[in-house]
Amino acid sequence: MNGARVLVVEDEEHLAAGLRFNLEAEGYTVETVGDGEAALELLLGGGADFDVMVLDVMLPGKDGFEVAKEMRAAGCYVPVLMLTARGRPEDVLRGFEAGADDYLPKPFELAILLARLNGLLRRREWHSRGQRRQTNVETELYSFGGKTIDFGALELRARGRVVRLTLMEAELLRYLVGNAGRPVSRREILEDVWNLREDTDTRAIDNFIVRLRRHVEDDPSSPRHLLTVRGVGYRFVPEPAEQT
Ligand code: CA
Repeated sequence: MNGARVLVVEDEEHLAAGLRFNLEAEGYTVETVGDGEAALELLLGGGADFDVMVLDVMLPGKDGFEVAKEMRAAGCYVPVLMLTARGRPEDVLRGFEAGADDYLPKPFELAILLARLNGLLRRREWHSRGQRRQTNVETELYSFGGKTIDFGALELRARGRVVRLTLMEAELLRYLVGNAGRPVSRREILEDVWNLREDTDTRAIDNFIVRLRRHVEDDPSSPRHLLTVRGVGYRFVPEPAEQT
């Protein structure tokens, strides 16, 4: 996507320079920084506006997880492609928990990185244009239990309260909504939402669900919409029957 502004956070100078060279050749405008503090300063300082970000996990000082967490907490929703160490699926899950939108294990092929970045830009554009697809769940507004998810604006609205969603939170919600009423396993979520096919620890999903419950439940400690199905996974119930 020509003209897109990408922030590369990578402390290995050779890799950062290589990424800059290749991304610029693809028409990106590139900014590189070597540590997390500098990245946060740029992102939260208000002066720079990025379309997408490449964030290495292993950084001096604040690591990539911390950077992702802090930027999300500060309301910065630039899509994040996280670079993880090979063979560490737990990094992937921690990355998603921290607010990353996609990941790529190191070492990576440049073509794959470009494809992932384009994918993130497309998803972002798709969300922000609120383009409609064929089925009901793909329309941009979805209401349940007095709340509305706006997949276009990446927002969840409930009684005047507006919660910003990360792309990944929105995708997980979209998946649960699309399978409303049916129990979905953690494995399905890993494969269908996060494209993880490895034999990974699924606990990060539980943490993710805890976070979503804070958004969608009136009382997150006794959920009525995002139910745990013991031994299986989760089930989304749009309009739960009144409890007595
Ligand atoms: Ca590094």
